[in-house]
Amino acid sequence: MFFSLSTCIPCILASLHLTFPSAQNRLYFPPHPTFVSFAPFAPFAPFVSFAPFAPFVNFVPEETIVPLTYTVFDLDETLYSTSAGLMQDVARRITRWLEHHLGMDPEEASRLREVYTHRYGTTLGGLLAERAREVDVEDYLAFVHDVPVEAYLRPDPALRAMLTAIPLRRVVFTNSTVEHAARVLNALGIADLFERVVDIRALNFIHKPRLEAYERLLALLDAPGPACILIDDRAVNLQPAKQLGMTTVLVDGEPQDGADFVVSSVLEVGPLIQRLLAQEG
Ligand SMILES: [Mg+2]
Repeated sequence: MFFSLSTCIPCILASLHLTFPSAQNRLYFPPHPTFVSFAPFAPFAPFVSFAPFAPFVNFVPEETIVPLTYTVFDLDETLYSTSAGLMQDVARRITRWLEHHLGMDPEEASRLREVYTHRYGTTLGGLLAERAREVDVEDYLAFVHDVPVEAYLRPDPALRAMLTAIPLRRVVFTNSTVEHAARVLNALGIADLFERVVDIRALNFIHKPRLEAYERLLALLDAPGPACILIDDRAVNLQPAKQLGMTTVLVDGEPQDGADFVVSSVLEVGPLIQRLLAQEG
């Protein structure tokens, strides 16, 4: 044999620009200077271990299987149902803020909220992108989250049991504030189960679904993407996570690009993670 199969396969995959890791095969290829420097020769990968050149060329990246370490939960409408009504109240507060601060009528403000949410992922993202000078961010965040959280949410023993059974570190990753997250988690009776809330301030006001928000999350956790499972109720928020190698779970949505798994209720996340860990061995 002129070349070994084990040497060729990673090189062939690299030449085809396949992306690793996937959720089912979480091989992590860390940056490898030798590998990168020979990238132009990737189409010839099958021949690189041809015996005479073996001492000079090493195309084989160091493969690392990254163990799952973190479950990263979105907060609103992921850890509780949309039907709770809390976010509809927040949406009304956002519309009112736009009315008061930008001098819009209710219909105009509501339309702008929808446009910004569609275009940027959040209303605040749109405001910062297009009207930053007109926005006092802290005033906005305080106003829109000034809702009676405890009137909408109750302690959820089933949710608590599910989370407790997950043998991974648990964090919240939210476009809202740590104050709002604390109220929600306390109202649900699960605040003590999360070691950290990564909120919009921790993200330097760079929100999901911008890729930089996920890179910041990983930096704060000091973890590579494949070590994380992200659970979110919006498919658009899963795509950047997938790009960074995270395993992604969509709660209460239709199967879409970026979602490795879809569950109809957050309570299904626990059993799903148990299955993934069992496969991991
Ligand atoms: Mg959400």
